Amino acid sequence: MSQVRVRFAPSPTGGLHIGGVRTAIFNYLYSKKMGGTFILRIEDTDQSRFIAGAEAYIKETLSWCGIDPEEGPDIGGDYGPYRQSERKKIYQKYIQQLIDEGKAYYAFDTPEEIDQMREKLKVAGVLNLNYNSASRNTMMNSLTLSKEEVKEKIQAGIPYVVRFKMSDKREIRFHDLVRGWVLVHSSTLDDKVLIKSDGLATYHLANVIDDHLMKITHVIRGEEWLPSAPLHVMLYEAFNWEADIPYFVHLPLIMKPDGNGKLSKRAADKGGFPIFPLNWTDPTSGETRQGFREMGFSSNALVNFLSLLGWNPGGDQEIFDLKALITNFSIERIGKSGTKFDFDKAKWFNQHYLKNTEIEVLAFELIKDLYDHYGLECSLELGKQIVELFIQRVTFPQEFASAAQFIFHEPQSYDQKVIHKKWNEESKMVLNAYANKLAVLSEINGDSAQELFQTTMASIQMNPGKVLQLLRVSIMGEGSGPDLMKIIEILGPVEISKRIQNAIVQFDQIKIVLP
Ligand code: GLU
Repeated sequence: MSQVRVRFAPSPTGGLHIGGVRTAIFNYLYSKKMGGTFILRIEDTDQSRFIAGAEAYIKETLSWCGIDPEEGPDIGGDYGPYRQSERKKIYQKYIQQLIDEGKAYYAFDTPEEIDQMREKLKVAGVLNLNYNSASRNTMMNSLTLSKEEVKEKIQAGIPYVVRFKMSDKREIRFHDLVRGWVLVHSSTLDDKVLIKSDGLATYHLANVIDDHLMKITHVIRGEEWLPSAPLHVMLYEAFNWEADIPYFVHLPLIMKPDGNGKLSKRAADKGGFPIFPLNWTDPTSGETRQGFREMGFSSNALVNFLSLLGWNPGGDQEIFDLKALITNFSIERIGKSGTKFDFDKAKWFNQHYLKNTEIEVLAFELIKDLYDHYGLECSLELGKQIVELFIQRVTFPQEFASAAQFIFHEPQSYDQKVIHKKWNEESKMVLNAYANKLAVLSEINGDSAQELFQTTMASIQMNPGKVLQLLRVSIMGEGSGPDLMKIIEILGPVEISKRIQNAIVQFDQIKIVLP
């Protein structure tokens, strides 16, 4: 087989949807697996839907995910330009060829006239209301008008489109590497517009010409493009390129978490998860939607999660970094049926990668967050201790800073339920004794803090379980949290002793107020 060349071909019509990122990843993985080339092509022929900033957003996303293309706009390559708006001349040349060969034709019908045609067909009981082999002969186009009439109209500046003359009796067969042979009868297809009235190529024309000229070997894209594939195959034939039709790989749909319908922005809002990889600000409404990155996802976690949406590596392994994904990836293991978007699973991956990040890296991030968001200064040593304390409990790195607030401030309030249930003369005695013992120490580690607590309890003949939660509330305000003895080690015996003494006064008052 010739050198594998794949392309990711997004339209810059808004923020790149997470499904688009998955398409880009699959293209990237396959190209790397095969030692091929990954190309970015910007499909911006639809000027009415063009959104400034969308192309830059696409590039930033690919770069954040670590899946940079080898050819593309601003990168260059032998098959450029890679932005379709810069390829108008190329499309003009090829459409002229189709017109000259009678495979495409000018059509001057107004939208109203097309509506009227449909209306007439409907009244006559015709089911297929398309502009097609049956209806085209009743319309205003270069098949029904004389050459002179056509010329006159064009010269007079009458708006027109160029349509593909779809055959009415062809069985179109093509092979999709995921779905197998796909068979469509051409009578079900219409005479698609190839050149719009603004003179620009439509997606179909530009896409096919570019895939051919850019020597694309595999078209890997979302399932929503499957219905366009028969037309694309017919276009390849019309250009006599059938020998080079690329392999098609239509990726399964990404479904809502409950499996009911396609994943949408609304479903994402409902589920409280992002739909965009990075923050995206809609230029018209000014509204910003939080991206996976800003929510605290690492690109490793997101790429790992997305690569398993529709691709099944076989076996139990779920953790794959980019290198492992490349090694293991295969088109044969891409499924046909829709794949559910499970946000909890995405978080699970993030947690995994977070736990495997170097403590020091997370500590630096924490130190920055503490300073930026809380105005708190924190040493690297303390930062590392905090990260270790919470690493099993957080999903996103920014959670460290908020979780660590009690390290820097005495509790502002205390869990009243715990106090109400457990605060009494006996527990007061224990906390008091423990505080007194700590007060005279200069430092303590987790183990000796535990030992000291146990001996204090034993001397009063009390079960540690009865006071442990109160001890925690006295130090952090809350009744649950990470390893308490580690917290005592981090804060040190003097601070802990002070917190317990303060808490004892507060607990007494709370207990009086709350009978
Ligand atoms: N421009 C299309 C899109 O926005 C590309 C479809 C294809 O890959 O052929 O998804």
